[in-house]
Amino acid sequence: MDELIYLLKLSQEELKKVLYEYLITKKMNPIFEDGFVYAPGNIPVLLVAHMDTVFKEQPKQIIYNKFEDRIYNPNGGLGGDDRCGIYAILSLLDKYRPYVLFTEDEEIGCIGALKTVRTLQAPNVKYTIEFDRRGKNDCVFYSCGNKKFMHYIEQFGFKKDYGSCSDISILGRVWNIASVNLSCGYYNEHTVIEYVKFRQLQRTINRACMLLDDIQKVPYFDYQDVRYKQSLSDKIMMLLGLDKVFGESESGKVKTLEARKK
Ligand SMILES: [Zn+2]
Repeated sequence: MDELIYLLKLSQEELKKVLYEYLITKKMNPIFEDGFVYAPGNIPVLLVAHMDTVFKEQPKQIIYNKFEDRIYNPNGGLGGDDRCGIYAILSLLDKYRPYVLFTEDEEIGCIGALKTVRTLQAPNVKYTIEFDRRGKNDCVFYSCGNKKFMHYIEQFGFKKDYGSCSDISILGRVWNIASVNLSCGYYNEHTVIEYVKFRQLQRTINRACMLLDDIQKVPYFDYQDVRYKQSLSDKIMMLLGLDKVFGESESGKVKTLEARKK
């Protein structure tokens, strides 16, 4: 709890330095780059969270209501999105050595993730977990279409939900690594009434421990981009960056194609 409150009060710049130095103390050989901090691990899974928040200023005062299990800023705006994700990863580093990636500027268009894939080769991992989803039980796969991977993650008590885009949408697609975004206990993100349910965050961390304990038993999961189940012209449009314009009709086409196969 105290660690999360400490993280909530740091600016992105301060947090980036703190994380880098922390990874050094853990002897993880981190790299500090424009857009991200990254460190390789010794178990084949990558954990991702972003360091920025939508708020210009960090909270000066933070209150925990233990009866409601609710952390909030009485002056509005907390930044649980995504300091909960940072906290989850640091908690897991007490026991495990996963690959870790902390990105900058997710909230203004996944800038850090884009810089990461321009700088780094794909890490040698079986899949990626991002901790950057509201609520308590969601698993979100975006355009990662690996059904075996989805089924595997759902076995740990998460329910599939949908989202528009986050860092793993870029990392997973470019690196061809199946990726999931898990709920980490924040609510009303991007608003002044944001709050965090600490026990729900803890519960996700506990389930992430189970996932990491199981990592040697699972195969490598590839990304299987649902958007690639398209015609050549759609692929070309996507590569040219025109897919955003035609995003709506594309998803319709994907369904039609899949229906035809059956
Ligand atoms: Zn976020």
